[in-house]
Amino acid sequence: SHLVNNADTIEQNMKLRKYDSDIVQKVKQLFGTRESIMEKKQQLTKERDETNQLIRSAHNKEERQQYIDRGRHYKEQLKLLDDKLATVESEMSAHALLIPNDTHPETPIGPEENAKILKIVGKQRMEEGLLDHLTLAEKLDLVDLGQAAKVSGSKFYYLKNNGAWLEMALVQYAMQKAAEHGFSAVITPDIVRASIAYGCGFQPRKTEASQIYDVTTASIVNTSAPKMVLAGTAEIPLAGMFAEKMLKEESLPQRVVGFGRAFRAEAGHGSAEERGLYRVHQFSKVELFVVATPAQSDGVLEELRKLQEDIFTELGICFRVLDMPTEELGASAYRKYDIEAWMPGRQAWGEISSTSNCTDYQTRRLDIRYLSSQFKEQVGPKDVRVPWHVKEKWVDFCHTLNGTAVAVPRVMIALLETFQRQDGTVEVPEPLRKWIPGQPKILS
Ligand code: AMP
Repeated sequence: SHLVNNADTIEQNMKLRKYDSDIVQKVKQLFGTRESIMEKKQQLTKERDETNQLIRSAHNKEERQQYIDRGRHYKEQLKLLDDKLATVESEMSAHALLIPNDTHPETPIGPEENAKILKIVGKQRMEEGLLDHLTLAEKLDLVDLGQAAKVSGSKFYYLKNNGAWLEMALVQYAMQKAAEHGFSAVITPDIVRASIAYGCGFQPRKTEASQIYDVTTASIVNTSAPKMVLAGTAEIPLAGMFAEKMLKEESLPQRVVGFGRAFRAEAGHGSAEERGLYRVHQFSKVELFVVATPAQSDGVLEELRKLQEDIFTELGICFRVLDMPTEELGASAYRKYDIEAWMPGRQAWGEISSTSNCTDYQTRRLDIRYLSSQFKEQVGPKDVRVPWHVKEKWVDFCHTLNGTAVAVPRVMIALLETFQRQDGTVEVPEPLRKWIPGQPKILS
């Protein structure tokens, strides 16, 4: 009913986010059908109950049989209505789930180019003759795309020698940095149930769904096995960690940092900008994830952005921070900041990181709630004995937020191109050296 009462606002929001807003009318129509079925059900139930009375007070056998037959007829009709109701309700919720999150009032409106640049940090290298990451990496024997193409296909890669160590160093560095900011470490499963991915918002638009690798092999032997997918981001298993949980307000915000492999089926454009490691099917990522109360989430988004900025500043990357516009928010984000690094090899900005406040979009779908701290003060500590209708008043949906600490390949591009020297060797940023055997200052 929230949707029916706010249909105009929701439709307007969907248009700004480039979503098909006809869904709202469809849900409204299904809601109307549901109401009329319920009314009919109520009427028939009343008539059935009256008939049951008549059976009891019938004067003779014949009359009684007549009422029994009539009662049977009502029973059949009611069963049909229940079936119809279930179909309409499931269709209604399937459509309603396609509706994206609300949008922050300060979010710029429109396509990607309307993103608002909030700041630029560092200095852009603009000299002539700078090499791109692939040329550098191949020269230094850090990657092998050719052999990976034979083994796995295009858009896969081997990281070799110090290329492999550079990935390990970035992962260690980002995990440790997050831990220093109160995030607890998690290694996530990379295969998840599709329902969890959908709950996070990786379904509504075809473009998003088609990025997901389906790996449901179990269904060959067991058709009732759930659909399984490769996680496109550790955000999915990290959100799943909290699914169907009732958290205590005092425990929020809860901050976790997960290391996982991200799998993207996306085809890419095959353009020069996407050459090398820029758009690949599999990459390592350190992901920040926070569950907070609604009152905390705006502040936590700024905290995540600050942590990302600290990481890239410390690594010595030149970057800019963007407040992303409505058409770039996807299904789940209420507000989203992207960070783009200056990539000297291409003399252009490229996205390396993103952070979003998803408010209650994921928590409603995954059922993640919290019990207010006032509950204990006002109702008492024995919460288990309190009936649900009393407790319900003190329960609300949490908010979730996610952010990339380090998406390895893109950060590698920015580092190799930024720290290249005239002879094609590359300086190693100071914070990463201790994680690489021999602690090299230069990759040569
Ligand atoms: P997303 O979850 O799509 O916001 O992506 C998070 C970060 O992962 C982006 O900011 C990029 O740095 C990186 N990324 C996304 N897709 C790819 C890809 N196909 N290949 C390499 N890096 C990617």
